[in-house]
This record gives sequence, C-alpha cells and structure tokens, in this order.
Amino acid sequence: MRIAFIEPAIAHVEPLGIASLVQMLLNDGHSVMYFESPRKGFVERLKKFNPDILAYSTTTGKHRLCRDLNEELRKSIKAISIFGGPHCTFYPEFIESSALIDGICIGEGDFAITELLKRIENKEEYIKTDNWWVRVDGQIYKNQIRNKVENLDALPFLNREVIYAENEQLRRTPIKRIIASRGCPYSCSYCFNKTYNFIYSGKGRVNYHRSPLNIIEELKLIKKNYPFSFLKIVDDTFGLNMDYEEFARLYSQEVGVPFLCNVRPNLLNQDKIKCLKKAGCVAVTMAVESANDYVRNKVLCRNLDLKVMSDAITALKENGLRVYTQNIIGNPGETFAMAMETFNFNVKHCVDFAECFLLTPFYGTEIYENCVKNNFLEEGINMDNMPQSYWLGSCIKFSSLKEKDKFINFHKFFSFGVQHPRLLPLIKILMKFSPNKLFVLFNRFYDSWRITRIIRVKMDIIILIGVVKMNVKYIFGFFLKTDSHSKF
Ligand code: SF4
Repeated sequence: MRIAFIEPAIAHVEPLGIASLVQMLLNDGHSVMYFESPRKGFVERLKKFNPDILAYSTTTGKHRLCRDLNEELRKSIKAISIFGGPHCTFYPEFIESSALIDGICIGEGDFAITELLKRIENKEEYIKTDNWWVRVDGQIYKNQIRNKVENLDALPFLNREVIYAENEQLRRTPIKRIIASRGCPYSCSYCFNKTYNFIYSGKGRVNYHRSPLNIIEELKLIKKNYPFSFLKIVDDTFGLNMDYEEFARLYSQEVGVPFLCNVRPNLLNQDKIKCLKKAGCVAVTMAVESANDYVRNKVLCRNLDLKVMSDAITALKENGLRVYTQNIIGNPGETFAMAMETFNFNVKHCVDFAECFLLTPFYGTEIYENCVKNNFLEEGINMDNMPQSYWLGSCIKFSSLKEKDKFINFHKFFSFGVQHPRLLPLIKILMKFSPNKLFVLFNRFYDSWRITRIIRVKMDIIILIGVVKMNVKYIFGFFLKTDSHSKF
C-alpha cells in the first residue's frame, strides 16, 4: 500500500513518532512518504504519489489543522484517513468531528498501524483491530488497547531519510534527537502521563527503556550518515531505570557528541550527575514549574520538595552542567507574589535559561478536569477550541483582567528578567502595558537566543539562512494573523 504521512506545517524538529512508524511500515513492504503541507507543489506531489492512506499524528490544538487539511485533501484524493498522536489517545471522540476521519489510533501506534494496514490490504475485516476506533459504512467501531511494546530494542531504528527527503533543513541541522525510553511514573496534574498510565493500566510496565547498546547503535548510524554535533534526548525523564554507567562508557567511547537531556531532580545524585558529565552531557532541562509549595505540589502535583530542586541545581552546576529550567506561571489560583517566588528561585540559582510557559490545561489532564470543576476556564473554552499555545496568552480566569494582563506580560519577560534581575523595575513598568505582539516577539527571539547559548552548536550557512528566512516569515505571519484563541 502507499501511505502518506501528512504534517500540516513545516516541521522545525524531527517528527520522531512518524519516523518510527515509517520504518515499521517499510519493513512490511509498504511504500511510504512524508509530506509537509505548505511546501511548494504539496498537493501535486501528493496526488502523484497516489496514496491509499493519509496518516496524521496530532496533538491538541494541531488537531483542527489536521482535520481541516484532511477534509480539503479528500475532495480530490480517494484514500482512507487515519489519525494518531496524543489528541487521539486522550480524545478518541475526535473521530466524530468529521465524517472523513476513518480511523483513530489510541496509544502506541507501532503494531497497531501495521496490523490495521495489513488487514486493509488483505481485504480482511478490520473493525476489530486493537487500539483503533474505526468508521466503516458510517458506523464507528471501538476496540480495546493491546499491551505495550515491552522490548523497545526489538523495534527498528527510526527512518530519518523519508523525513529528510521532504525537509532538507532537518537533515542539515547538526542537532539530532532520539527517544531512549517511554513512559513516566509520576502524576503531575498538567501532564498527560497520569491519564496515559491509567489507559494502559494492566497492559505493561509504566516505564521501558532501550538498552544503552541499542541507543548507541542508532546514534552511530546517525553520526555516519548526517551532520551531527549535538544530541537532544527527548525522554520525559532520561535514564529512569537505565544503567547510567554503561551508557556513559559506551556513549563517550562511541558517540562523543555533546548532549542535553531532561532530568527530574529527585532522581539525581552525585554518581548519576558524574556519569552524565562523563558521557558528554553539557546541559540538562529540569522542570521547576513553581517554587511556591502550594502551586507546585497541590495545583501541579509535582510531589517535589523545594530543597531537592535547589540541591539538584547546585550539584549540576558544580559539575559544570548548564541548567535549563522550565517554569509555569498563570496557574489556577496563583497570585503574582507566588509567581515571583518562581522567578526569584531561578535568579537565586543563576540558571542558564529559565524558560517560562503560561499554564494551558490540555484536555486529558487532571488539571483540565480541575479547571472545569472549579470554573477556572475562560467562558467558551473547551477541549475542541483550547489554544495550542502556552507562550502567547492564557485561557485561565484570573481575579481581574488587569491581573491577567500582568501575568501575560510577566511571562514575556520572565526568562530575560532571570538573566538580568537588575532590570526587574523596568519589567514591572512594561507589565502595565496591554499585552501586545511586540512583547511576544521579544520573548520568542530572546528565548531562541538563550537556547543557542545552552546548545552552543555551530550551524552551517545554509541552516542559518533557513533560520533567518523562517523567522522573517514568522514575523510577517504573526503580525498579519489574528489568533481567535487569544487576545492578540
Ligand atoms: S515528571 Fe514530567 S513527564 Fe513525568 S508526569 Fe511529571 S511532567 Fe509528566
């Protein structure tokens, strides 16, 4: 069969989930291509490929773009449309929103997609395929979830080539990403993992990781075939159950490329930090979220002591690692003084970059339910029209509009202020203005620049031109567009 994966935007980072499914399908003898929607000749090239299947991987917010694009494409392409990704996992009822969505995959797609397509290809009945909600002759059939993939080493390595054939920029960028494990056992209220673990209860362990050897083999292939001078390990919590020492030994000997990973402070100790350092880790991303105990542990359910975070940052910095924190402000019930505690915590620990988000309570998370129950969502906001952006505005109700504007503006200067705390009085003056696009652009550009300071990778000239072009396009698009989901 011919399968076209469709991305309704130009991807700025490799779509790892799609790249993994591509190889599974190629191994089954299918013909697979990846298309990004606004590219030149997109529809013509897609028609020429003549796909039997249009496949989309979607998150909440992006689901509207995918659905609309699919409806447009199906006017001239006769194919079956299947959707997967987080939005489908947590809201499979999405299938009801368009008669042209033929299948929704819940949870892991690896063997779900290969089994479904095998049945379709062999003209077998496919209404009873685990993990799928399928529409046949106008009727929707709902199936159970299969067990999780236990042995991640048995999965093929991602197929980057099919992705790069469409997006040359991703091939050329020396920053590559991998997934080393799946799952997280924690229950943070704003994160999908709690619900994911519930959906999969009794269907396999919560956290699985690849063996260090398997990870290294994939990285050696990347190193051999593509520009590769920085690695981002995208796991929610890197090395949760992994043998850090073996990974460090193999990585430093066989890969030797600086890398960044996500860590949870309570899982770190001096030995692990030293292993990370020895392996070649130069920076870590660590979620602080809030330094206020009530917000962090009661609202966001982080179950973390402030001192544990403080000690972890100190130890990481003492070992020469750059620390990139993630913070959330604008939480339900949070006062400005509480948000300032988070700001001051970052300043006190001299973090290298304090990225900040405005809370967006995505459907499928515990905090979404709490916001609905306690009337914290703005009038008219629901699962289907939830804003996609957590860096633009907020859909949370505040004590007054003035207070909300203050939070939205504070967010735009948070990371800058942490690096330049002496300018806080100026930031406080700017916070009195109405939220506006200039502040948004300042925030976007400042944060992008800070990230380059964390990663410190030299880019070739073509990549730099690509980045400049992308930013110019972004600025024009941003100033011309009115986002109906925020006040901009
Ligand atoms: S620790 Fe991170 S990945 Fe795990 S549940 Fe919390 S926010 Fe999600």
